[in-house]
This record gives sequence, C-alpha cells and structure tokens, in this order.
Amino acid sequence: MTDTQKTETQERPPVIVIMGHIDHGKSTLLDYIRSTNIVDKEAGGITQHISAYEVVHETSTGDKKRITFLDTPGHEAFQSMRSRGAVIADIAVLIVSAEDGVKPQTLEALKCIVSENMPYIVAINKIDKPGADINRTIATLIENEIYLEGYGGTIPYVPISAKTGKGIPELLDMMLLVAEVEELTMNPLVPAEGAVIESSVDARKGMAATVIIKNGSIRSGMYAVAGNTMTPVRMMEDFRGKAIKEAVASSPIRLIGWSSLPKIGSVVHTFQTRKEAEAAVVQFSTAHLTPTKQRSSETEQENKIIIPIIVKADVSGTVEAVEHEFKKLITDKVTPHIILSGTGEITENDVKTAVGLAGAVIMGFSVKIDPGAHALADRLGVTIKTFDIIYKMSEWLQEIITERTPKVEIEEIRGIAKVLKVFSKTKDKHVLGGKAESGEIHSGDNVKIMRRETEIAIGKVRELQHNKIRVDEVKEGYEFGAMIESRVEIMPGDRIQAFTIVTK
Ligand code: GDP
Repeated sequence: MTDTQKTETQERPPVIVIMGHIDHGKSTLLDYIRSTNIVDKEAGGITQHISAYEVVHETSTGDKKRITFLDTPGHEAFQSMRSRGAVIADIAVLIVSAEDGVKPQTLEALKCIVSENMPYIVAINKIDKPGADINRTIATLIENEIYLEGYGGTIPYVPISAKTGKGIPELLDMMLLVAEVEELTMNPLVPAEGAVIESSVDARKGMAATVIIKNGSIRSGMYAVAGNTMTPVRMMEDFRGKAIKEAVASSPIRLIGWSSLPKIGSVVHTFQTRKEAEAAVVQFSTAHLTPTKQRSSETEQENKIIIPIIVKADVSGTVEAVEHEFKKLITDKVTPHIILSGTGEITENDVKTAVGLAGAVIMGFSVKIDPGAHALADRLGVTIKTFDIIYKMSEWLQEIITERTPKVEIEEIRGIAKVLKVFSKTKDKHVLGGKAESGEIHSGDNVKIMRRETEIAIGKVRELQHNKIRVDEVKEGYEFGAMIESRVEIMPGDRIQAFTIVTK
C-alpha cells in the first residue's frame, strides 16, 4: 500500500436529528444542549450562524466526545435531502411529550426514521410538568408499535425535561452509546465527502452552503463540488461563523463562493485540484442531461419549473381568490404551485416547510410574520413577503416567474452582405469587397460565411472600410471593403451574415 492509499479508520462523532410532533420540545431541547455543551463557549453566549452545531459532551465515564446536531430542518427538508440520496443524520431522537403522548407527527417522523433504517432513541419530554405521565406515554408508544427497552423491545428511551435539563446528560450518553454500537467511522486521510443541508445567498460574501462532512478532511486550497456547482475552499467557517482552515467528519461547516446555489441534499465531494473538481461538475451535468427526444413531452413536464408557494391570509375567502389569480400566471415553462395555504400569521412552521422545497416562497395577505419565523427565514434564506392588495401579490409573483423562466439564447441576424471580390488572403485573413444587402455589418461582428444556402464557416469582421476610409459600420445598399477572419477560403458570390447571440 502506498502512502496516498493509506487508510486510518477513526471513530466519527454521530450526527443527530431530533424529530417529533410540533410543540413536543424539539427547539427547546436543541437550545438547551447548545447552551450547556457548546465547545469553547465564549462569554455572552454564542451566535449560531447555520442550522447545525457541534457540542462536546463529557460522558458519565469521563470521556469527552463530540456530537453534531442538525437544527430544525423539519422533516420536509429531511425528505428533500433523502430524495437526493443524501443520508445525513446517523441517529434520530424521537421526542414525545409526556403530557400528550404519541401524536400524528410523531408517527410521520417515525415513518421517516424507519424508512431510512436509522437507529433512534425516544426522548420522553416535559417530565417536569404537572400533567406529565411517563407510564401513559410509554403505553401510547407501545400502542403504536414503538417497542421500548424493558417493554418487549429494543428501542432505548430517556425521560427528560428540555426546560430544566433533567435527563439530558443521560440522553447524550445514550446517543454516544448508540453511535458506538453503530461503529461510525471516518478516514481523515481522504478528501472530505458530505452533504448540503442549507444554502443561501450572503449579500456581502456570495453564495453559501452549510455542509455536514460525513467522511475525510477538507482544507483550504481544495475544491468542493455539489452537483453542478463548485467552490474553491477559501472562505470556510465553522458553525459559529469563525473562519477555519480545516475540518473533519462530522463537523458542520459553511463554504462560501459557489458558482451557483447548491441544492439542499446534494452530495458534496472535494478535490485537491480545480481540474478534478471541474471534471466532476461536467460528469454530473452530463449524467443529468435531458433524456431522449421521444420522451420530450414527458421531459417538458419534468423540466417545467415549479415555484412552491405557501399562502397565509386573514380569511379563507382571500386564499381562494389568490389561488384563482395565481392560476392565471401559469406559463408553459413555469408553474406557481400553492403547496400549503391557510389563515393566520406566518409561523416558524411555515418557514420549516418552505425550507425543504427548493425555491419555495411564503406570501402573506393582511397577516403578520411571527418574529421567530422572521429570524428563521433570514437564517435559512427563505423569502417571505406580505401584501395588502391582491394584484400586488400577482405582480410580485409575476416578477419571480420572469426571473426563474429559463433564458434561451437566440441567434439574431443583424445584416447580410454579398461578397463581390476577393483581393487577397493571408493565412486566415481575407481582404474582400462586398455590398450590404440588408441590415448592417459592423466591425467586430461575428459572421457566418454562406455558400448558396449552406454555412461553410464562422468568421469575424476584423476591419471595415467605406470609400477607403475605416468605418465602424456599413448600412444596407452600400459597398465596402473588409478584412474577414475565416478558416475556410471565401469566394466571390458567398454571402456574409452578421449575427449576435441574444438571451431571451
Ligand atoms: P417544537 O415545536 O417541537 O420545537 O417545540 P418547542 O421546543 O417550541 O416547545 C413548545 C413549548 O413547550 C414551548 O413553550 C416550550 O417552552 C415548552 N417546552 C418544551 N420542552 C419543555 C419541557 O421539558 N418542560 C416544559 N415545562 N416545557 C417545555
């Protein structure tokens, strides 16, 4: 084995996702763990810049171990990650309130966890509350076929209070125990691989993405690729926004400087050289090219851009009116699609739903934005806009549709000239006399050399003269002298078509 092939398998910190029914305490638990176990806690607390963080936990046996937490992507985001093949979390914590027991979203989360074949721990939360009943909660879990340890099953569970912190050290111990059983490993000697969990445009710095590294190491000077976009590893930050030069699995990092915005759930690969990274981008783009012609109607459908919209309005009649208006804006390329609508203010949950759907926007009519939703949307790069006139909503959406409509490049013929005489030719430069038959010919124009109806070469007008005086352009009806660059010999009788590429 050579040096470069050397492997060095090491234990890897687990990446944890917390899932469960709304209000059962996901955010409170994440906040508690963050505020009590963060690495290098600075005075005055820390500001988390991205939707993931790392902690160091000292176990009951005195070992200090790292754990990475995914913060609030919601299970919609989780599903969109899955659909792109990225398995980001290693272990799930299914949080269930000891007051309420199993609820519909508990079961949805469970379905997600099971289909992912992910090991999980049940956290029975809110045990400090007077209405808490651990036994009843366990009974509701068992009724729903969640068989806990000691109750005929193997699923570990820990009673906790996300508010007082009771049971949380035990829960963290349990995460590390499950991680040990799972034998999570990494090889720090290979280039890092990971997945994108969020991406946004940083007004000052450029396009940014949060990446969870699942194996290997990443260093300044390398290049990262996510699907069809890449970035040099130059601006790299840890989850607190601190510039770093190196990171290893399972750290969450922020990479800034992408050529286009990476999609949530894209798999990230890193390379030592730009050339290798570019080759990976080309390979990805080729593999994802539109398939064959006979499937065109199907692919047109597939290629249609959908704008997922969440609409919140003051009354339900408005929602219907908005839906009706938005239908009028559908084009053959872009469809605005209301995926969720309802009455009441814009909440954090709306933002969590939007973040899982690429390009989703939240629109409100005569409603407020919950301050928490505002902050979360800012952090996750979700657009929220509120209105009090319906046609202003349509106008704004129309702008987004126009922005997102794919641009096509069209060749526009600016002028056609006939070649009357060829005076000389050196290498690929032809000095000739001609007459503009239509439009205009400009110095510097790209031209097609046409023989009868066939294009025989592409060339460029290097110099243009009229009455032996250098000019920038000649108009229809005028004769001119020109020096044209063309690899193919130009003959009297050929036609020259000046063209430009316009984007529409
Ligand atoms: P999420 O929707 O799952 O993120 O739930 P939150 O973390 O926002 O919690 C919902 C409500 O329950 C908030 O008012 C929390 O303060 C409260 N809460 C969460 N965990 C506990 C707990 O362990 N004990 C008590 N007393 N309240 C809690």
